[in-house]
Amino acid sequence: MFTNVTNFITFVIEFAFTFVIQINSSVNFSSLNYLEIKELSIHGRYISSSQLQSFIKGNSIQNKISPLGKSVENRLIHKVTLGSGKIKILMWSQMHGNETTTTKAVLDLINYLTKSADLTKQILSSVTLTIVPVLNPDGAAVYTRENANKVDLNRDALELSQPESRILRDLYDEIKPDYCFNLHDQRTIFNVGSLEKPATLSFLAPAHDIQRNISVSRGQSMKIIVAIHKALSSLIPDQIGRYDDAFNPNCVGDTFQLLGTPTILFEAGHFPDDYHRERTREFIFYALITAISVITQSKIEEYSLDNYFDIPENNKRFFDVLILNANLINKKYDHNIGILYKEVLNEETIMFNPLIEATGELKDSFGHKYLNCIDQNDLDYLKFARKLNQLLF
Ligand SMILES: [Zn+2]
Repeated sequence: MFTNVTNFITFVIEFAFTFVIQINSSVNFSSLNYLEIKELSIHGRYISSSQLQSFIKGNSIQNKISPLGKSVENRLIHKVTLGSGKIKILMWSQMHGNETTTTKAVLDLINYLTKSADLTKQILSSVTLTIVPVLNPDGAAVYTRENANKVDLNRDALELSQPESRILRDLYDEIKPDYCFNLHDQRTIFNVGSLEKPATLSFLAPAHDIQRNISVSRGQSMKIIVAIHKALSSLIPDQIGRYDDAFNPNCVGDTFQLLGTPTILFEAGHFPDDYHRERTREFIFYALITAISVITQSKIEEYSLDNYFDIPENNKRFFDVLILNANLINKKYDHNIGILYKEVLNEETIMFNPLIEATGELKDSFGHKYLNCIDQNDLDYLKFARKLNQLLF
């Protein structure tokens, strides 16, 4: 195998070097002490503007916050700027007002970066992070996807018809970021590939043309996603999916990718029994730390494009509750019932109200919870669970 001693020594050195690189590229999440970092004052699915204001006032970041402009209903939109490095990262959360999980993770990120630890010092000396925690404060106030004019801001990237869209675009033009993170929540319906596993996190390196070519910037986005996938796979095995990459220039991510900025779509999804998305919030925080670390440590090129396509695509095969043999309750039901929760804002908390989404065989469908009407315990549960009882009986 080795023609001489020199070749053997070269092999040993290369092997050792590769090993060291692999250790360095992974962030040790348990050493981060997430519970000490987590912003405990904000949790659950609804974040009120007064909660956000008290976070800002209670944190030592007041000199790092500045207003960017106002929403349709005159709510202020802020940016937080951290670090002084050459590499510029722009991220925004809650452009869809009812998608709060990434905002919570971003507040945790701000907490983390304003504490002094060796890794944060290294990050803040090599990167300037511009964070817009809530781009759509009007939608956030009433828990809607759209803004106050009922416009989906993620379909307004070309037209720029809304003040919130123009604020983001002006900020992009002003700081000319090297990387963009577009932060969202996704519904509970998504599973990974064909597995009965929820897509707890999903990612996309948006396309920049109809042919879905891989430009340098898109390739970088893909490699960063591969790094995140690798770092988080042991925490949430088979629970990370990839979105379809059909090009839509009305979407903000596709537009920024088209303009040559590596852009990554982050989607916070369902983790079993975590409808308040506090576990997913933690995983998004780790994903953000991983992406920032890979960028600041110049390690993007260590990851392979091919591995991006190894990440399974998402499918829509989950119901929140799958009721089996529902025809035993009432003949009007056709065999099985798939139920999805509708999220309803009620005095600053989110209620999860069950609605019948589909009935029938529902082959190939999964449930985050299964109830089988053949089973007396499950039937008793259905009768005592008030909302399900009202819906079905
Ligand atoms: Zn969204």
